[in-house]
Amino acid sequence: MYRDTIAAISTPLGEGGIGIVRLSGAEALAIAKAVFRGNLSDRRLSYGHIIDPQTSEPVDEVLVSYMAAPHTYTREDVVEINCHGGPLPLQRVLQLALRHGARLAQPGEFTLRAFLNGRIDLAQAESVLDVVRARTEASLRVAVQGLDGRLSSAIKDLREQLLSTLAYLTARIDFPEDEIASQEVVQPLNEALRVLRELIATADAGMVYRFGIKTAIVGRPNVGKSSLLNRLLREDRSIVTPIPGTTRDTIEEVSNLKGVPFILVDTAGIIHSKDLVESLGVERSRKAIEQADLVLTVIDVSQSITDADREIVALIGDKDALVVANKCDLPHQAKPEELGREVIYTSALSGEGLSHLEDKMVEVALGGKVIASDAPMVNNPRHKDALERAAKTLAQALQDSDAGMPDDFVTIHLTASLNALGEITGETVQEDLLETIFANFCIGK
Ligand code: GDP
Repeated sequence: MYRDTIAAISTPLGEGGIGIVRLSGAEALAIAKAVFRGNLSDRRLSYGHIIDPQTSEPVDEVLVSYMAAPHTYTREDVVEINCHGGPLPLQRVLQLALRHGARLAQPGEFTLRAFLNGRIDLAQAESVLDVVRARTEASLRVAVQGLDGRLSSAIKDLREQLLSTLAYLTARIDFPEDEIASQEVVQPLNEALRVLRELIATADAGMVYRFGIKTAIVGRPNVGKSSLLNRLLREDRSIVTPIPGTTRDTIEEVSNLKGVPFILVDTAGIIHSKDLVESLGVERSRKAIEQADLVLTVIDVSQSITDADREIVALIGDKDALVVANKCDLPHQAKPEELGREVIYTSALSGEGLSHLEDKMVEVALGGKVIASDAPMVNNPRHKDALERAAKTLAQALQDSDAGMPDDFVTIHLTASLNALGEITGETVQEDLLETIFANFCIGK
């Protein structure tokens, strides 16, 4: 049972003009009443003061909202205390709540309760985190669709389809002598497999939206890498967010191109290498390429192609890559096509060719796929893995049925497929997996 009442500071500590202490659980209202001087009523914002009952001292001037179960985030009674933003009032209000019987919430525990109390399924709970961490508007759109349950409802439909076939097969096994109306088995399973494969096909693009695409800008010194980088970063800078976990030794900047977050990797290392010998340009390029999903090899089209250019292109291997023939505003000397990669002509000076380059980058990042914006999209590796297992076992069920194997064989595979689908929405999920998922949340969410 989730009877205890949890409390946490739900806003970043010491940032912003307002901070919120959130309580959820059966005792939320009683605890609020014990420390709040003011009138509380359901779904009203009440003005008043938080008072320390021991000392009768006012702790903060606040606005408190009380939302009675079940129409709340957690489906429990929820109280939110809007305090002045400083860390001290927030900490003191939280301490008071804890002293009056609340327990400090674990990371993600409010959302976990929303899941355990059946308000959202597991895939939706995971989308909460995606919404919080979305880097571009397009990533946010995918995340919000997940939160709305678009993927979940596609999974639910699939499960229902498989369950009905499974029920039919089980009846046929259990009551072979009864006349059970014959039902088409292969066709609905084939249809389900088609839908599954369609969903899996959205995963690569979905994950690019979610995680971004690591992009290395490499090339000899002075070809225009940093000028190009600055051009790419100028786009929509204001809605680009910093990446958590960025370390000090690699500089990662995010450029939002048509909603795809491009993470420009280790640019410091490569770009400030003007006074280094060319071999160092190659060495640094090698390191950057290793980490990248997409490589932009910049050459100076106003000079002949050098061995260093060729060496850098040779480092790319089978990574996605574009050759950027920069300085196209100057008379051309090089024939970059000889490098055997797709070439985009740009001038970082005049801006010519830049939007073409961006279109190409987006095209390569999304694997050339255009996905309808209202279609469910898979943006989570855990979901992709489960979908792939569901598809594999479903294909096995079809194969067995096709080969005229006994129904028992078919049902075993069908059940495995159903279980894999259930992992996505949380119907068939292990406790330890829940812990791992919610451990990624921040406290108060
Ligand atoms: P990096 O060493 O590869 O990062 O090269 P920079 O971006 O620092 O550029 C080297 C020089 O080339 C600078 O003087 C730039 O102004 C100039 N430059 C960069 N891109 C262009 C371009 O497209 N056309 C022209 N004419 N000059 C450029």
